[in-house]
Amino acid sequence: LALHKVIMVGSGGVGKSALTLQFMYDEFVEDYEPTKADSYRKKVVLDGEDVQMTFWTRRDRRTTLPSETTTSGAEKGFCWEQILRVKEEELVPILVVGNKSDLEERRQVSVEEASSRAVEWGVPYVETSAKTRANVDKVFFDLMREVRKK
Ligand code: GDP
Ligand code: MG
Repeated sequence: LALHKVIMVGSGGVGKSALTLQFMYDEFVEDYEPTKADSYRKKVVLDGEDVQMTFWTRRDRRTTLPSETTTSGAEKGFCWEQILRVKEEELVPILVVGNKSDLEERRQVSVEEASSRAVEWGVPYVETSAKTRANVDKVFFDLMREVRKK
């Protein structure tokens, strides 16, 4: 049985828990208690292979795209630099997710900004909605396929 770990990083309120819970239980959770960390396990069949996925979510202001671009980048970019260093050294697949795609009228990060950042980092960019389930399976399964390649 392959064991894969998924770490979700992002500011409080962006939908890390909602995405995880939608993927795990096919349910949109409107008011999940804000927590610093969640962990979940799910067994999935990925292209015919059994995979045990473990999820951790982590709230971190320093990974927010808008604040990185609107305030001084040096310190705020630290966390991303660390993550990208891990990506280069440990070959950890990374995917940037823009969640709440159902709330287009309240968009805070343009597609152009997010995708150009993703290109800069050499990672894919996917927009999801934990509410409508748009691309929810896609992000996790794409990520698992990348993990398997490494
Ligand atoms: P976390 O702090 O990153 O874990 O964020 P949560 O998962 O707790 O989500 C914060 C709030 O945003 C909750 O009220 C969720 O119901 C809501 N939310 C999360 N994802 C979506 C989404 O894709 N669409 C909409 N409309 N609301 C969402
Ligand atoms: Mg949460």
